[in-house]
Amino acid sequence: MPIQNNKICPQCKIRRFMVKNESGAFAVVTVDKDNNIIPVKDGVNLDDYDLSILYCLGCSWKGSIQRLI
Ligand SMILES: [Zn+2]
Repeated sequence: MPIQNNKICPQCKIRRFMVKNESGAFAVVTVDKDNNIIPVKDGVNLDDYDLSILYCLGCSWKGSIQRLI
């Protein structure tokens, strides 16, 4: 049985989210079980991104990392 290593959306249960920076650009991320936010693309720097709100890629859900399941 595979181990679930990523947090998922409480609504649609997918594991990919977007975060947004001050200029409105989005980066696609996953969140591991220890709540580390990990960019899907190598070399993406999340320093100027707002990591307090995650936007689900699969539905209209958005919210903080604590609400992921
Ligand atoms: Zn969702």
